[in-house]
Amino acid sequence: VYTKEVAGIHVHCYGAHIFHTSNQRVWQYVNHFAAFNRYTNSPIARYGNCLYNLPFNMNTFHQLWGVMTPAEAKKKIDEQVKEYYTPKPANLEEQAINLVGLDIYEKLIKGYTEKQWGRKCRELPAFIIKRLPVRFTFDNNYFNDRYQGIPEQGYTAMVAQMVKGIPVQLNCDYFSDKKRYDNMARKIVFTGMLDEFYQYVYGHLAYRSLRFEEEFLSGQPNYQGNAVVNYTQYDIPFTRVIEHKHFTFGNQPDTIITREYPSEWKPGDEPYYPINDERNQNLYKQYAKREREEKNVIFGGRLAQYRYYDMDQVIESALIIAERECATFSL
Ligand code: UDP
Repeated sequence: VYTKEVAGIHVHCYGAHIFHTSNQRVWQYVNHFAAFNRYTNSPIARYGNCLYNLPFNMNTFHQLWGVMTPAEAKKKIDEQVKEYYTPKPANLEEQAINLVGLDIYEKLIKGYTEKQWGRKCRELPAFIIKRLPVRFTFDNNYFNDRYQGIPEQGYTAMVAQMVKGIPVQLNCDYFSDKKRYDNMARKIVFTGMLDEFYQYVYGHLAYRSLRFEEEFLSGQPNYQGNAVVNYTQYDIPFTRVIEHKHFTFGNQPDTIITREYPSEWKPGDEPYYPINDERNQNLYKQYAKREREEKNVIFGGRLAQYRYYDMDQVIESALIIAERECATFSL
């Protein structure tokens, strides 16, 4: 979640992080460390020279087909779904068409998803697309969650509060001196790559990585009018452009944008997403079995649990584990 400050703008260096949750405990927990603003994510999708609202809602349906009412929109989607309906959707393409029909799939899902994951939609699991809500109201709020916002002083300040008074060493390689680190504490929390932890004994898990191209636009106060614009066409190599100042309603004279290019992870890259397709899920199960046998290591987060977690889910799971650990801890 690291953010750096440039010309008064908090730049999300490792991709846009928008905090959202329906879990009151998690929301209270993070608010303990930072004041959150009222940012609401309403991304815009650009396909050719047309702009569409996301997530798929009445605004999108009007922009696509000129429909005016929910009944008209439903009729249009039903017609489209009916034509290509698959009773038991086995992959992302079938699932997406079942949900929203062919037009939306081809303009707003197919290209973006195939760029993001580097795989054909027919080779991806259906569940990835369940993350995208479909609504028959004029509501551009991307998330259904009750709470949402961005830390006003950036995520780095929030994390600094979280680790205040706790000794922290950065840029150390745990694996280069594993014995010494293991002996430092009764328990280790490991949040790195699970397959690396076990020296890839069962083979490599696949990860998706990202490359960011950051640009400082001097004297330009507003590049795209929105924090997030998704480029859903396959032949444009980046998936989205982030204009960081809009996360905090900045009115600085300059702006900073970041183009996000997905790529396949290779050693030395930063891993960002697990790829939960069949091959990797099966491989994960082998590692997970080993993991469950560990007495002194707690595995947490996207990489160590190999799950497409959002920030709030990571925190929720950490709070539950911490509670469990504290309950068994005796002096
Ligand atoms: N997605 C899409 N078109 C979009 C945005 C998202 O098809 O304009 C699909 C894509 O498959 C993506 C998934 O929805 O991987 C989840 O998107 P989300 O924005 O939740 O991903 P994240 O922010 O975690 O990268």
